[in-house]
Amino acid sequence: MPKVVNYTAPYTVSDVKYQDDVWHVLLKSADDEITVTAKLLIDAAGRACPIARKLGAKRTATDKLVCGYLVGREVPQSTDAGFSYIEASPEGWWYSAPIPDDRRILAFFTDTGLPATQWALNPEGLIQHAYKQASLAALLDRCQFQATEESGYHAAHTSTLDTKYGNQWLATGDAAMSLDPLSSQGIFNGLYTGLYAALNADKWFSGQITDFRDYNQQLDNIETAYRQHYDEWYGLQRRWQDQPFWSARHKR
Ligand SMILES: Cc1cc2nc3c(=O)[nH]c(=O)nc-3n(C[C@H](O)[C@H](O)[C@H](O)COP(=O)(O)OP(=O)(O)OC[C@H]3O[C@@H](n4cnc5c(N)ncnc54)[C@H](O)[C@@H]3O)c2cc1C
Repeated sequence: MPKVVNYTAPYTVSDVKYQDDVWHVLLKSADDEITVTAKLLIDAAGRACPIARKLGAKRTATDKLVCGYLVGREVPQSTDAGFSYIEASPEGWWYSAPIPDDRRILAFFTDTGLPATQWALNPEGLIQHAYKQASLAALLDRCQFQATEESGYHAAHTSTLDTKYGNQWLATGDAAMSLDPLSSQGIFNGLYTGLYAALNADKWFSGQITDFRDYNQQLDNIETAYRQHYDEWYGLQRRWQDQPFWSARHKR
């Protein structure tokens, strides 16, 4: 039975070596370092994919999507409570959705390098521009949205590893492939590929398989379907084909 060790951040993966049929992973924090040994490595560390990178896998991004967000309070009895909202605009798209404890997230997705990032990645600019969108402003008013100090920005682009598995390692969830949030597939993909990675790991430990080619094939199938849907969703919006955000998505 493999031993479960729970090392939480701020340990970072400093080095990964394969020796005597096992992996030796050097984890470092500001004042400590530990070496963990394992027969099989699963990189489930999100977009940063530190293990896959250390093992030489390359990550390719196919767009520049970034998201500025802020969190506010909403009145739970409002007619919009419980509903998500998206709205396209010339430089990207708006997103607002309820989150636990009577809170609501307000976000704008655009591309790095576009002028919109100048206002979208700071909370004052974000809220000012949100209230210029008639329907979104009306929704925020109905919810009596009150911005809190919680805000930030996050990379949200599509990116995949060129190699999602190798000798005694595999990557899963966002580490293998991060999806545009418009797809609403990220969490599902994380759960599905996580379970599928576990199933394949179990088969590998019991000698039913000797590599992770089937696992990789399944991830390739998911990526193909995702990219087809990506083109279809973004292709639905035809109003601003002269705008870089939309033309970049219609060219592919
Ligand atoms: C702005 C934005 C909006 C999104 N909206 C949606 C949505 O509406 N619906 C949806 O389905 N998906 C959405 N997603 C995508 C979704 O969040 C991800 O696809 C999903 O969280 C991936 O899960 P994961 O477990 O693979 O990776 P993560 O959620 O990134 O989890 C990786 C974990 O590994 C931990 N970790 C990394 N390194 C270390 C270390 N050295 N030591 C210890 N721990 C470590 C991290 O702390 C983290 O907890 C969105 C993403 C973004 C950026």
